[in-house]
Amino acid sequence: MDTFICQNCGVEHTELPSLAFDAPFHYDILSLVDKEKLAEKEDDFCVINHKDQIDYFIRVVLQIPILDHDETLDYGVWVSVSKETIEDYRLMFAAKEAEEKSYFGMLCNEIADYETSTIGLYMQVLTQLNGYRPLLIPYESEHSLVQDWSNGISRDEAVRRVNSVT
Ligand SMILES: [Zn+2]
Repeated sequence: MDTFICQNCGVEHTELPSLAFDAPFHYDILSLVDKEKLAEKEDDFCVINHKDQIDYFIRVVLQIPILDHDETLDYGVWVSVSKETIEDYRLMFAAKEAEEKSYFGMLCNEIADYETSTIGLYMQVLTQLNGYRPLLIPYESEHSLVQDWSNGISRDEAVRRVNSVT
């Protein structure tokens, strides 16, 4: 991993990797057979065809600011969205069209850094102009994840989180 002398605190840092989930929680908990039978999963899209309903997910990024640094700790996560949203986003994605759009989504990964479940947190999903994955803007909430998103975390805390999964 690349290290550099930090402009902000003068200490040698390692670049923070993003903490990514390969799939939404709702896909992970399916049996192997059901994954084959019910689900279609790509890098950025996931659809689960349950008997009584169809669930749609897209992959996005949640950026937690790091105090006194220009860096963010990035979580690669999935949100559930409506059929209309996934269809709209799919078109944009396929056409590689850069447009700023705003959707509604609910977080669908369990981020282990939080005691209270992160699944179901309400999110605004903002597509980006530069071809990167959409960014999340959490709805106001007392949840620590939302507090961290608003207030930031220390760099030491970010490093601790990275080390706890790698
Ligand atoms: Zn620093």
